[in-house]
Amino acid sequence: MTAGASFQGLFDREPDGRWAAPGRVNLIGEHVDYAQGLCLPFAIAEHTVVEAAARDDDRVRIRSLAEDGGFDGSLDGVGPGAPGAWAGYAVGVLWALRAAGHPVRGMDLLVTDSVPLGAGLSSSAALECSTALAVTDLFGLRLGRDALIPACIRAENEVVGAATGGMDQAASLLATTGHALLLDTRDGATRQVPFAPAGEGLALIVIDTRVRHHLADGQYGARRAAVEKAAAALGMPSLRDATLADLERLDPDLLPRARHVVTEIARVAETVALLDAGRPGDIGPLLDASHASLAVDYEVSCAELDLACAAAREAGALGARMTGGGFGGSAIALVAAERAEAMVAHVTSAFAKAGHTAPEIREAVPSAGAHRL
Ligand code: ADP
Ligand code: MG
Repeated sequence: MTAGASFQGLFDREPDGRWAAPGRVNLIGEHVDYAQGLCLPFAIAEHTVVEAAARDDDRVRIRSLAEDGGFDGSLDGVGPGAPGAWAGYAVGVLWALRAAGHPVRGMDLLVTDSVPLGAGLSSSAALECSTALAVTDLFGLRLGRDALIPACIRAENEVVGAATGGMDQAASLLATTGHALLLDTRDGATRQVPFAPAGEGLALIVIDTRVRHHLADGQYGARRAAVEKAAAALGMPSLRDATLADLERLDPDLLPRARHVVTEIARVAETVALLDAGRPGDIGPLLDASHASLAVDYEVSCAELDLACAAAREAGALGARMTGGGFGGSAIALVAAERAEAMVAHVTSAFAKAGHTAPEIREAVPSAGAHRL
């Protein structure tokens, strides 16, 4: 473990700067990014910080206070699958930016603070995005934030070999305080949508079930394939423009999957309309409907996520849903601020009664995107 180490102690020099990038929570719009749908993530206050210094050779040294190992080698040796472990998220960004023709050299990099790892809050994108900003500043790259997103996605898809659509990276780089980011995955267009629950006497609570189901990867591929098959059967490029009436032409095995996608995209649009109208307290039923659709039609929930949402509602939540890919990870609940504490206690005791591992529960506050410190 590198815990407790300092940049100076590890690399025998001072960093040139520090860069922070936040994790994210997806408010609504789940499992629709691969169907050219809409999603609505926001950046959270928890963030990853990298300290970095440029080098004038091609050597890259990477360490983290949160994980063992790291990387010490030439940028020339980086590519698909190499390096294999967590350092691929960071050095993969350097590799992708260099592959895109930008003048990137080596660097020394220490990850000091971190979004909680593997909790569904996107620590992976936070690591990529904080690194991408460091690289941009240290090598004077003339790149807007939009242009950094594909490099971060390439690092995760190709170097690490993990499937990711791009929502996490867009949220971490583009989100602003007091807003959610409406992301149209058909063309990558984004818009800031006002979302500041505290200002309305509300709290958005994240319940990490601490369940990490390993079958998630195969299931993700299967859902994605079903959605693509449904679009092809309808003769459409994606389900983005499909209507419920169109879906009647589908085989019964594809229908529920496609119905989730079509109804979820509509729920995102309705949520955005309510937020634009200054009515965040009215989005609860849409969160509930999203969960039901993910649980019943899409079958990506699990007992712990269902319990988290049900217990939150019993304790007065206005709405609750699983967030992220499913099969574990986190749920979110929107609740009146004065009821939040009692709700957390109720969810915690419901988990204990059911014999589940104690959940980790925190408030998520819509916060700023990546920035230099
Ligand atoms: P999530 O993005 O939801 O946290 P992922 O499985 O996508 O979950 O990414 C978590 C992985 O990202 C970790 O297992 C680790 O490999 C890497 N990672 C994230 N943050 C750090 C960090 N601060 N230091 C080292 N590795 C990290
Ligand atoms: Mg991730």
